[in-house]
Amino acid sequence: MERVCVIHYSEIGLKGRNRPFFEKKLVENVRRVLKGVSDARVKRLQGRLVFPLGDSDPQKIIGSVKSVFGVSWFAFASVSEPKVDSIKRVVVEEASKIAGKEDTFKVEVKRADKSFPITSLELSKILGETLVEKLSIKISLKNPSKRVYVEILKNEAYVFTERIKGPGGLPVGSSGKVLSLLSGGIDSPVASYLMMKRGCEVNYVHFHPFYDNSEAENSKIMEIVRKLLPYSGRTAVTFIPSYEFQIATVNIPAKYDLVLFRRFMFKVAEKVAETEGAKALVTGESLAQVASQTLDNMVAVSIGLKMPVFRPLIGYDKEEIIALANKIGTYELSIKPYKDCCSIIARHPETRAKPEVVKELEEKINMDSIVDKSLKLSSRVIVE
Ligand code: ATP
Ligand code: MG
Repeated sequence: MERVCVIHYSEIGLKGRNRPFFEKKLVENVRRVLKGVSDARVKRLQGRLVFPLGDSDPQKIIGSVKSVFGVSWFAFASVSEPKVDSIKRVVVEEASKIAGKEDTFKVEVKRADKSFPITSLELSKILGETLVEKLSIKISLKNPSKRVYVEILKNEAYVFTERIKGPGGLPVGSSGKVLSLLSGGIDSPVASYLMMKRGCEVNYVHFHPFYDNSEAENSKIMEIVRKLLPYSGRTAVTFIPSYEFQIATVNIPAKYDLVLFRRFMFKVAEKVAETEGAKALVTGESLAQVASQTLDNMVAVSIGLKMPVFRPLIGYDKEEIIALANKIGTYELSIKPYKDCCSIIARHPETRAKPEVVKELEEKINMDSIVDKSLKLSSRVIVE
């Protein structure tokens, strides 16, 4: 009997006229993760994606499809002709594989093809009766322990007994591109992941304290980027040394170091974003988590920027962020030791930075020229 993987999407089904666009992105992304796992062709078919399982490893398929945003759930199904008799046979076969003595069953039918002569409800009833008759099992509509799902399309019907949850969200690439400021810490990988979840293509920029970019290129930063690769797909990381900033700020009041450094990062990132076609910046900031993330400092840091800064973790507690980092697998990498730029910065930073002081100091150090010099020192790595 032919077996297929049926993929369902939720939110993208609601996008009206844009629906084909979202579906195409989803198909592209599913094809990408299936490379090396299955050479089957993924088809769009009446509001779902379908591909034959062939002899590919189901566990690998599960692992791959679970990283594709936009997937609401998916299932491994047996294919039947869209005729009552043949559906009955497949339903009995599928149910018999999972039926235990104490189990109660419910059959759920969906018609994608409304020209099928029997309503979903009627067909569920008929199939339920068939199960009782052939397998002597009980039916429970309110509280079944097992379910058999039937989907009827124009040219075929699918029968399956388990729905596997996908990651939800929207297909990466359907919401445009953003540039994420990626540190070696716990928060920014999670923030990047959340932007991918909402359909953004995410490129990264990383500021490092080394003289040579290659030292950062061979650090755990790349491991974090690779860990997120199943979600992100092809991406780029720009590495920027921070020494031009350090040199220019040796005589600046230490408590303003942090705010100035953050403005330096945003200004450089904005230029990188422009050249990459990214429309917004992303950080892992969470309100008042540390001294640099007080409301006053966030305001002072963002004044005069041309691009919006998205902070998807703004309302998250540290524990919530850690839980998510564990789930997506970045936590272990984030806690590995790494020489972060911020370790060279004042022990008692200003928590209520004044915009006029920031402006004066920026003129003094000639921020724009530090930004330009640093950009010239950058390197860019493609990850795919
Ligand atoms: P994280 O856990 O992401 O490092 P954090 O709690 O350490 O965050 P900060 O060090 O204040 O907080 O950094 C806030 C945000 O600024 C980070 O989430 C990241 O988006 C950005 N950022 C900090 N350091 C760097 C860096 N070296 N390169 C790029 N972005 C950075
Ligand atoms: Mg950090």
